Amino acid sequence: MAATGKGGGTTGPDLAAMLAGDAGTGDFGSLDHRFIRREFHAAGSTIVREGETGHCAYVIESGRVLVHSDARSIATLASGDIFGEMALIDAFPRSASVTSIEDCWLIAFERRYLDRAFRDAHSALPFLLRTLVTRLRGPDAPGGDPMPPGQDGFVRDLQRGQWFEEVMEEGRVLNFYQPILGASTEQVIGHEALLRWRDEKGQIRPPAELVAAAQHFGRAHLMMQHVLVAACRDLLAHDPAGDSFIAVNIEAEQLGDDAFVGEVAQVLKETGMNPRRLELEITEYAFVRDFTGAADRLQRLADLGVGITLDDFGTGYASMQALISLPFSKVKIDRSFVDSYPSDRRSGAIVDSVVALARRLGMKVTAEGVETPAQAQALALAGVDQLQGYLFARPGPAGERLGMHSARR
Ligand code: C2E
Ligand code: CA
Ligand code: CA
Repeated sequence: MAATGKGGGTTGPDLAAMLAGDAGTGDFGSLDHRFIRREFHAAGSTIVREGETGHCAYVIESGRVLVHSDARSIATLASGDIFGEMALIDAFPRSASVTSIEDCWLIAFERRYLDRAFRDAHSALPFLLRTLVTRLRGPDAPGGDPMPPGQDGFVRDLQRGQWFEEVMEEGRVLNFYQPILGASTEQVIGHEALLRWRDEKGQIRPPAELVAAAQHFGRAHLMMQHVLVAACRDLLAHDPAGDSFIAVNIEAEQLGDDAFVGEVAQVLKETGMNPRRLELEITEYAFVRDFTGAADRLQRLADLGVGITLDDFGTGYASMQALISLPFSKVKIDRSFVDSYPSDRRSGAIVDSVVALARRLGMKVTAEGVETPAQAQALALAGVDQLQGYLFARPGPAGERLGMHSARR
């Protein structure tokens, strides 16, 4: 961001002063160093002068001020009101003067106070503010020092949002399925639904980009409904009478939504799917924000007969607490531990302790990311119940994977 006048917009001068041993309390009280300060203005004093370049805005703590242009009064402002705010956006010459009517205490703050907020904000906000202020000032306003508009970021964000909506609306999302096998029998017992989308050329693409966009635009819900409905329909189309299950990944934020349980129940009812054939895979991040609410919803899902799996076990910090106190029927050991299994001692310790704990708690254990026969053998020997990974099959379309399963039965 460009310099904002007296103190400069960078930390350079501050650091220079400190290095010169010049940053004592006296100096820190000056406008040069502070982003925010309290000011007293006796009745009748001019606080802001029309035509001067603005560097800060003011909030009135106590007292009243008059905003005026020459002799024309524009507004009377009191405690809690803000003035000079346009300086935070564009640092143009002030368009009006402000005089205290009574003794006033004000808090003055510079644009730098907001730098961080604007940097972290949605890219639309700086863009919208800058546009509003520029239009308000009109085409003849003299030049100033406008804040960066953030326009590029905003336009890119809009284009990404439009891309997401288009992919969803045009039905370019589909489920792939990866088989899950019984560790001792090596028979397919179920599948995990994994989201895929078709790009403009019809190529099938991995889920990360779409999942991230759904989260960013508050559309995770729409995506989840889509995956869930497709998973139930696909299973019933390819294996209507069997007892294999389908596992669907649920975004953490879905569990924060009170309508979620009812929606799952509705999908089960409308598709005619047996709840016992559905598993929901949830990572522990779902329990970080509202543990009690999430726990309650999980229990209601479990009461419906739906299986609940703790996914990516071992990758977060709340694993143990979540595992012990929530109604999980299964725990999935993350691929990162399976990768180095059985050679790495620490992975071995994780696998052994998860198996022991799950036994005690009456849960099944799945290992995902199994790529070699040695891993499969060792995991089965360690007591893992189910295996999933490229060793057996990569995720594939419903017709190939779910069909393959029916043919095997
Ligand atoms: P995840 O739930 O941990 O899914 C397993 C991922 O590991 C899948 O990647 C799968 O293709 C991959 N995988 C399976 N076996 C192996 C293996 O042997 N080796 C290796 N290297 N990888 C293996 P995918 O399909 O790219 O999905 C990535 C992640 O995207 C998923 O991780 C899940 O977190 C998310 N995701 C996928 N579908 C959905 C969905 O419908 N909804 C939500 N919310 N997230 C989804
Ligand atoms: Ca999963
Ligand atoms: Ca996983």
